[in-house]
Amino acid sequence: MTESTYRIQGATGDWEVVIGLEIHAQVTSNSKLFSSSATAFGAEPNTQVSLIDAAMPGMLPVPNGECIRQAVRTGMAIDAQINKWSRFDRKNYFYADLPQGYQISQLYHPLVGEGSLTIEADEKAGIPETKVIGIERIHVEQDAGKLMHDQHPTMSYVDLNRSGVALMEIVSRPDMRSPAEAGAYVSKLRTILRYVGSCDGNMDQGSMRCDVNVSVRKPGDEFGTRTETKNVNSVRFVMQTIEHEANRQVDVIEGGGKIVQETRLFDPNTGTTRSMRSKEDAHDYRYFPDPDLLPLELDDAFLEECRASLPELPDAKRARYEGELGLSTYNAAVLTADVDTFGWFEALLAETATAQGKAPAEVAKQAANWLISELFGALNKLGRSLAESPISPQQAAELLALVGKGTISGSIAKQVLEIMLETGDGAGVIVEREGLKQESDTGAIEAKVDEILAANGDKVEQYRGGKVALFGFFVGQTMKAMQGKANPQVVNEILKSRLG
Ligand code: ADP
Ligand code: MG
Repeated sequence: MTESTYRIQGATGDWEVVIGLEIHAQVTSNSKLFSSSATAFGAEPNTQVSLIDAAMPGMLPVPNGECIRQAVRTGMAIDAQINKWSRFDRKNYFYADLPQGYQISQLYHPLVGEGSLTIEADEKAGIPETKVIGIERIHVEQDAGKLMHDQHPTMSYVDLNRSGVALMEIVSRPDMRSPAEAGAYVSKLRTILRYVGSCDGNMDQGSMRCDVNVSVRKPGDEFGTRTETKNVNSVRFVMQTIEHEANRQVDVIEGGGKIVQETRLFDPNTGTTRSMRSKEDAHDYRYFPDPDLLPLELDDAFLEECRASLPELPDAKRARYEGELGLSTYNAAVLTADVDTFGWFEALLAETATAQGKAPAEVAKQAANWLISELFGALNKLGRSLAESPISPQQAAELLALVGKGTISGSIAKQVLEIMLETGDGAGVIVEREGLKQESDTGAIEAKVDEILAANGDKVEQYRGGKVALFGFFVGQTMKAMQGKANPQVVNEILKSRLG
């Protein structure tokens, strides 16, 4: 495995960047980790808080099986060791958004152990080779509440809606070596979570937050001291954090200073990080097993059920699109990038195969090319996403069938698509109404060809004298005379035979 060659040029030579990411992913479930309160985003403050979430005395937490199931499925999706025996620990600290005075987490015996994720080579992004990034663990824990300061000059507000919501903390190995690799890791993880359905991956709503650990070293040296920048909430910000933090560390070290292990904050307005507090070690939190909770013990039937419920995952789907369906690497990557896209494509593929009475593999290229170059382009102009497409996969399949059967040409299909988007009418209806059917009738085309050749005697002479590039001129003239509706293949054949 060759490492990417991302380097920071310092006064004393080149520096390598080492990155490890801890990602908090909010588990998709209707209720919280240890209570039945709702978890919906955007509710009025403190409307989704039970006595347990508010940490009233005497309340007892009860684990939510659905949250455990989602974390196990996520672990399976990254090929991780699933620990049939795990346990919850208390992480003790005081903060105004934490009414219990401790967070229930898993330090010593996490639910999910060692796994990994593969990021694809992307020359343009500076990732020369496919690379496997190690994932150390996934543990399940409670989220804290939210504080809002400065809403009023002298007030702070506490919203406990998020208090007790289930999080998966997904901890990578320090395996990434450039901002691009870290960006690709976050994107890939988000894709996997969305496929699995265990987290919605909406970073802007805080359902996926990233703690970015960065250190620098001279290539080949031991790891340097790292800093941790908390709660970075977009892929771009993760990359900016690394860029800024690595350069800052190089400046500090080369200026004769030392990196202190600390927690930092990213400021999206300036693209810089600043110190928040010195970093605590695990022992500062006085972790101990939560006495209110029994260890989690999973049986084989439960694990089987989790595994059986997994969908086809991104890597497998991509490989199948390339192998079984014969799509290009690029198209396979585009179509598997998110759940909406592959859902639409697979519906289109099924409908297209049925409409043309062919196997999916026979129409996959047609469907993929059309979706990527025609529909994506049209939706782009309308400023709409695929989920908001005004035409359905069924309607699109009807259009593709008209092309597949030679009823209309590819260029006429573009016109038909535009009219479909404007009017909402079906492709067949439009082709009939506007008289757009492709002419394959040899007689009609021959008549036009003869007229054109007669009117352009000089060019025919030149063509026969060796100026073969004129062939295109004759095709163009014929298509024009046929108002774009002649079958191009038939036109070519007739012209060839006439021109000898
Ligand atoms: P903690 O639990 O105190 O945050 P961990 O040892 O669990 O510490 O590591 C947290 C994260 O920091 C992991 O994602 C790990 O990959 C990353 N990490 C550890 N050492 C380094 C380092 N020297 N440089 C960059 N990242 C690191
Ligand atoms: Mg940490």
